[in-house]
Amino acid sequence: MIDFLGKTIECSCGKLHEVPNIEIICEDSVSQRLSEFFEDAFFLADENTISLVRSLEGKTIKLRDPQRVTATMENVQKIRSFLKNKDCREIVSVGSGSLTDIAKYTAYLTDREFSAFPTAPSVDGYTSSVAPLIVRGVKKTLTAKVPRKIIIDPEVIVNSPIDLIRAGIGDISSKIIARLDWILSNLLTNEYICDFVWDDMKGLLKVVLTDTRKILQRDRSSILNLMKIQLISGLNITIIGNSRPASGAEHLISHVIEMYQEHRGQLPLFHGLQVAMGTYITMKAYEAFFQDIHFAKSHISLEDKEKLLIDFFGEKVTSELQKIYLHKRKIEKVDIKSIQKILEPIYLQYHSILEASLFDMGVGELFSKYDKNFIKNVIIISTTIRDRYTILDLFDQLGILKDFCDWFMEHMTEVKE
Ligand SMILES: [Zn+2]
Ligand SMILES: [Zn+2]
Repeated sequence: MIDFLGKTIECSCGKLHEVPNIEIICEDSVSQRLSEFFEDAFFLADENTISLVRSLEGKTIKLRDPQRVTATMENVQKIRSFLKNKDCREIVSVGSGSLTDIAKYTAYLTDREFSAFPTAPSVDGYTSSVAPLIVRGVKKTLTAKVPRKIIIDPEVIVNSPIDLIRAGIGDISSKIIARLDWILSNLLTNEYICDFVWDDMKGLLKVVLTDTRKILQRDRSSILNLMKIQLISGLNITIIGNSRPASGAEHLISHVIEMYQEHRGQLPLFHGLQVAMGTYITMKAYEAFFQDIHFAKSHISLEDKEKLLIDFFGEKVTSELQKIYLHKRKIEKVDIKSIQKILEPIYLQYHSILEASLFDMGVGELFSKYDKNFIKNVIIISTTIRDRYTILDLFDQLGILKDFCDWFMEHMTEVKE
């Protein structure tokens, strides 16, 4: 499925990339003989996926949640204590993003092997070496175990819930913004950058985004392409050692919405759906940037940000986030023209298919679930939750973030429902 697994790549970025040799098995009906692939494993499932491992009684752990299992440290602790006196070498996740993140972080903490049986093409986390988890109210991206095996049953993937397929399109659409943000940061803050992890996916990314409608109609080969690119994107994270190749401002926006809802005990949308909203917002930010749209200058004071943070997440989380924000790199001088010249060709190559893909997957319907003023505050706060430089930091430091938000609100009406 992926030809560079297990290879060592002498890269133009100056590093030697060791690609893990993950065994990927993609076969029809493979879900019926899962136990053949694992000798000494526990299978982690939830209400929706337990039927896939029903025959493996005594070897399954079912996570329960009255709403939906989410990737939290509490769930990791539950699995950890369940496995405490159990003699098993491996944890196999049977599910999509949240179960995978819980399983691979528990495997990391308890020094066990990890494998995945993905049940939807909804995220790129199956092959990645990190696990994004909510820890005491803050979304953190933690080091986790890379899988030993990944078992894919095309029928399971093709028939996964449509919202998880939409989410998969949302999560993969973000890779264009993630790339632009990474180059922007490289230019402005001198952050390390690698081209291999973009070159290995950019062709297929175009195909997948162009095929959005076919994916939503459950066309088998288009959905398998979506699954394949998710696996490549996750490998890119593993190759680089952090989520930079796969996550920019759009993921920070999605994390803010998720943290806000978790803080209130509300069930967030699927990860990729929130990422789709973040991708649309940041796509518009780049659009405004390249079109030289004039924004009025008005810096958002630290006090205003603090008020918003307290309102969103409470006092305790606020002081942690303020520290992150104060340590962010401040840019002295910005040569806008030269940055535009480097970034715009990439943006132009993808802009129209990205926009069409987001419209087709129904990003307008997602925005309609939220209050406009809430979205504006989400954008402002997204610059405070992680030490990762993005287009929104540039807007913040130029003093135009507030006016961009107002401009975006006006243009949100263009989002077709
Ligand atoms: Zn993601
Ligand atoms: Zn490289």
